Amino acid sequence: MSETSSREEICRFGRSLFERGLTPGSSGNISIRLDDGGWLVTPTNASLGFLDPARLSRLDPSGRLQSGDPPTKEMPLHSALYAGRPADRAIVHLHSTHAVAVSMLPDTDPRDALPPLTPYYVMRCGCTAVIPYHRPGDPAVGDAIRGLGGRYSCVLLANHGPVVAGPTLEAAVFATEELEETAKLHLLLRGLNPRTLDASELRDLADHFDVKLAGRPSAP
Ligand SMILES: [Zn+2]
Repeated sequence: MSETSSREEICRFGRSLFERGLTPGSSGNISIRLDDGGWLVTPTNASLGFLDPARLSRLDPSGRLQSGDPPTKEMPLHSALYAGRPADRAIVHLHSTHAVAVSMLPDTDPRDALPPLTPYYVMRCGCTAVIPYHRPGDPAVGDAIRGLGGRYSCVLLANHGPVVAGPTLEAAVFATEELEETAKLHLLLRGLNPRTLDASELRDLADHFDVKLAGRPSAP
């Protein structure tokens, strides 16, 4: 995909996420890894609803700003997740309400934050890790993400929001949406003893799709 198309895609998906209330105000950020090893990143203090393709931050492979506005101060999240996942080309970070809520529950498993409620959650997200709270922009959050060793494409920052990687921006956005909807279902069903997918159903999904079940205790 050309850099021009990538710029337009970031703005189109950003607007869609913002207009559906998935990240409020100027929260959330998006990045794409370009063919030359550099990045396109949403600028600091920019609302995802009102991005300008020409003002996106263009970084070189070492992370230096080449053109556009200064990048989001949450770039360390993106760099750390990319470092462990060389095949992924896009990352979405949102402050989406239900995922943030799940990150704050005392009984959330940090290696597997959400139960396998639906096949699409399992297929698009696999498992979701939770890392402890850090101040926004704290470089230590990168160390915590690197500590996961690239096993998770979906990471929840406690009291903050999800960070999701994918091979394309579309894949990362769809996985982020699936994570948020599953978090909403999980909260709706809390205390109601819902039926989840069992081990044989998870194995069946893994046999038919490219499913990553890192961390899940009942992984096939
Ligand atoms: Zn954030």
